[in-house]
Amino acid sequence: MSKLEIHQIPVLNDNYLYLFKDPDSGLVGIVDPAVAGPVLDKLDELGWKLTHIINTHHHMDHTGANLELKEKTGCTIVGAKKDAARIPGMDIGVEDGDIFEFGRQKAQVFEVPGHTVGHIAYWFEESDALFCGDTLFALGCGRLFEGTPAQMWNSLGKFRKLPDRTKVYCAHEYTEANARFAVSVDPENKALQSRFAQIRKLREKHLPTVPSTLGEEKATNPFMRADDPGLQAELELTGADPVEVFAETRRRKDNF
Ligand code: ZN
Ligand code: FE
Repeated sequence: MSKLEIHQIPVLNDNYLYLFKDPDSGLVGIVDPAVAGPVLDKLDELGWKLTHIINTHHHMDHTGANLELKEKTGCTIVGAKKDAARIPGMDIGVEDGDIFEFGRQKAQVFEVPGHTVGHIAYWFEESDALFCGDTLFALGCGRLFEGTPAQMWNSLGKFRKLPDRTKVYCAHEYTEANARFAVSVDPENKALQSRFAQIRKLREKHLPTVPSTLGEEKATNPFMRADDPGLQAELELTGADPVEVFAETRRRKDNF
């Protein structure tokens, strides 16, 4: 089986859209279309025909072009069953543990509440691709607009179980600011220090730092490391419940 062919489209200030094709079936999906123009341009350039929109959550910078793209291409819109009322034009609702079949590709669906209560993620295992929206970012995680720290820590725990080689196709280029915060709470972390240096080099040249890998996130992202003794010591929370450590990390980031 072939792997998904994935193209990253930067839009607005710092959003990334992902246009992807299953080479075997010819099906084409877009993750979280904030805007339509750049998607239609890219489809033209590649000679692809859009068949699916895959939404992670209801925010406008993720669903803003749902209806326009559906009207122009006749595509099918997939989103969280639990959030059907807030996903414009949704046709297919999916929930935790579902396998969404996309041609010959299969995506496992995770419910990952925290940023919003209805947030979901899609893991295309054979392509090592995780489309995680605003749940996990390179060196960060989404703000808790609707969910609790316990929910978000549990959601990120679902990603911690996935293979290190998994690519993290998150929805925003927030990495450099996230890195500045990460080194403030985890200053002794050598892997984080070298990652920060790499990120600075990429951003000086205006290059994307996304996708990262889950292996990198597990080693350097403080929001994935609430049970790490070094981070706990830095926060003066040695031996505390990881939910408490996660909540304190999130609180500090919100005020950073
Ligand atoms: Zn969002
Ligand atoms: Fe967003």
